[in-house]
Amino acid sequence: MMKKARCLRELAEEHGLHGLYFQHIALCRRRAWLHLMGATHAVHHPRVQRGLALHQTERRPGEAPKGLGIAPDAIDFQRRVVIERKGTSGAREAVSRQALFYAAFMMGATGERWRAEVQVYGSRQSMSYDVTETVLDSLLQDARESRDLMNDPPPTARRIPLCEACSCKPLCWDEE
Ligand code: SF4
Repeated sequence: MMKKARCLRELAEEHGLHGLYFQHIALCRRRAWLHLMGATHAVHHPRVQRGLALHQTERRPGEAPKGLGIAPDAIDFQRRVVIERKGTSGAREAVSRQALFYAAFMMGATGERWRAEVQVYGSRQSMSYDVTETVLDSLLQDARESRDLMNDPPPTARRIPLCEACSCKPLCWDEE
């Protein structure tokens, strides 16, 4: 398991992958490709702006130090938990992928078991996730897929329920 975690960490560093990539690829291939191209405009999206504002106003302990190679919202070194915080509890599966990537990255760096936790601002809600072999295999697969995404023709936009709320909507459906 630690070998896979190390491999994931190396792949992420080699391809310049950040946690958000693993969230995007779980939602939509085109969105992941736009992210890799640096063309996502999530920071201008009202939902993301709300999350950033909550991050500033609802200060919680455990801010992650710089220089780790990842940028989760918080780290509890004692419990070995990487924490990601969101403004809503939506897209749980995809959000958990981002947090699990951070936890796996820390496993690769330290050789110890880490867990992922997703907290929701404005509530006591907290979801905890374990880094399993299956999780590592699928994160590795996503990391490898990033190379295909960059080399293959751009994925075409396909209408899915997420499109309506997606920050990339103007780049996919500019006629609307
Ligand atoms: S608007 Fe739809 S197709 Fe385009 S990136 Fe977002 S989810 Fe994917």
